[in-house]
Amino acid sequence: MSIADSISKYKRELGKVQLVAVSKTKPSSDILEAYNAGQRHFGENKIQEMASKFEELPKDICWHMIGHIQTNKIKYMAPFVHLVHGVDRRKVLVELNKQAAKHDRVIHCLLQIHIAREETKFGLDQGELESIISELSEFPNVKVVGLMGMATNTNEEEAVNREFAVLKSLFERYADTHGWTTLSMGMSGDYKLAIENGSTHVRIGSAIFGARNYS
Ligand SMILES: *Cc1c(COP(=O)(O)O)cnc(C)c1O
Repeated sequence: MSIADSISKYKRELGKVQLVAVSKTKPSSDILEAYNAGQRHFGENKIQEMASKFEELPKDICWHMIGHIQTNKIKYMAPFVHLVHGVDRRKVLVELNKQAAKHDRVIHCLLQIHIAREETKFGLDQGELESIISELSEFPNVKVVGLMGMATNTNEEEAVNREFAVLKSLFERYADTHGWTTLSMGMSGDYKLAIENGSTHVRIGSAIFGARNYS
């Protein structure tokens, strides 16, 4: 299926759930094909790659930073980033706040929660989440609008389902009092389960753009 056809297919299937088309490692020409099919939200996992694509591509694209954040690179995305999904430590908030202030912006972000079995996936545990939430007033140029998580990479549906349910219940615990709107969970292989569990934003890459080649 062409990129344009998969964009149309997902838009129909997802309805109100926001599609973030994950274009990491893919050329700008692929992004433009999706753009011309109506897609405006794109996800990247490397700040500098996102910044150079921002320079080249139409300015009404909403850029989502979905990867692990290196704080020394935040300055490159501060002028334009739409939503930062992977905030997993206080130091990221400190630097985001500082760089956002320089551009007179309030940068929206999500706190990443560790829900998977794999140790390698980043994210806060519940205690760390509570302590970060209690400090948010120190960061007036950052606005936390919800949570993000990645499930274990496994075919065991029940395990993935449990992990998404854990994230959803954490989200609900804080959503009303903090005005949260966004729950980012689900990728190419598990987005259906994520939506059943209340996801508002799915991050889909390979199912749209094809397998990534890292060599
Ligand atoms: C790469 C990536 C995705 C997309 O993965 P696919 O399996 O290609 O859909 C989603 N979320 C994050 C955080 C990623 O790094």
